[in-house]
Amino acid sequence: MSENIEELKQVTGLIHSTESFGSVDGPGVRFIVFVQGCRMRCKYCHNPDTWAMKSDKATVRTVGDVMDEALRFRGFWGEKGGITVSGGEALLQIDFVTALFKVAKSLGVHTTLDTAGQPYMTDDYVTEHIAELLDYTDLVLLDLKEINPERHKDLTANKVDNILDFAQYLSDRGQAMWVRHVLVPGETDYDEDLIKLGEFVKTLKNVLKFEILPYHTMGEFKWRELGWKYPLEGVKPPTKDRVHNAKEVMDTESYQDYLQRIR
Ligand code: SF4
Repeated sequence: MSENIEELKQVTGLIHSTESFGSVDGPGVRFIVFVQGCRMRCKYCHNPDTWAMKSDKATVRTVGDVMDEALRFRGFWGEKGGITVSGGEALLQIDFVTALFKVAKSLGVHTTLDTAGQPYMTDDYVTEHIAELLDYTDLVLLDLKEINPERHKDLTANKVDNILDFAQYLSDRGQAMWVRHVLVPGETDYDEDLIKLGEFVKTLKNVLKFEILPYHTMGEFKWRELGWKYPLEGVKPPTKDRVHNAKEVMDTESYQDYLQRIR
């Protein structure tokens, strides 16, 4: 990929949408770019309209165009904020995201990659491209959806092995990351899996935050709009007790204490 900034600005991506004032996908106030396309099939996905690799509702946009839009909000970012690329699956449009982050870093903008890690493979071509992107990525938000292989396959229609390999790869690189786990009753809240997930996350270096995100049903209407049956119909968000239980068995509280101590 050329390092010429003007050429990088011409690289195009298929963009589902943007959000001007994101507050949960990375530190501070952020401009979020949602790219089109994802190969995971998470039963609780609240953006199933991003799954298709091609969509006439998505727009082909250049890096320059997206960056110009983002920079209109720079005054709100403060010291912590910046841009986040989410999806869909951001790694499926790696050339676009890499070009965007190169341009962003040339302007001193904080960059965050929100990914489920599904496209990761250990072959040289993939790792070379991912390594180039990570060189320009300040923070990775890694979603670990379920550590039990069978339950992961049932929940997402994909394997978990390469995703755990990706987490290890990020750790070995010393990449700063936040790990997030969506807690879904009957799907991702089994104590034995939560304990294993907690133990796995503790082996990773540079995890700056370990969060449990309670499942919500706000994306359900999108499944209906697409004419699809919602796989988790009738499943309610976890109770406070279940969220508390997950934090306890995953030991996220002492993990947060540990993080405070090493900072
Ligand atoms: S990885 Fe994200 S966008 Fe893809 S299906 Fe899962 S929740 Fe939806």
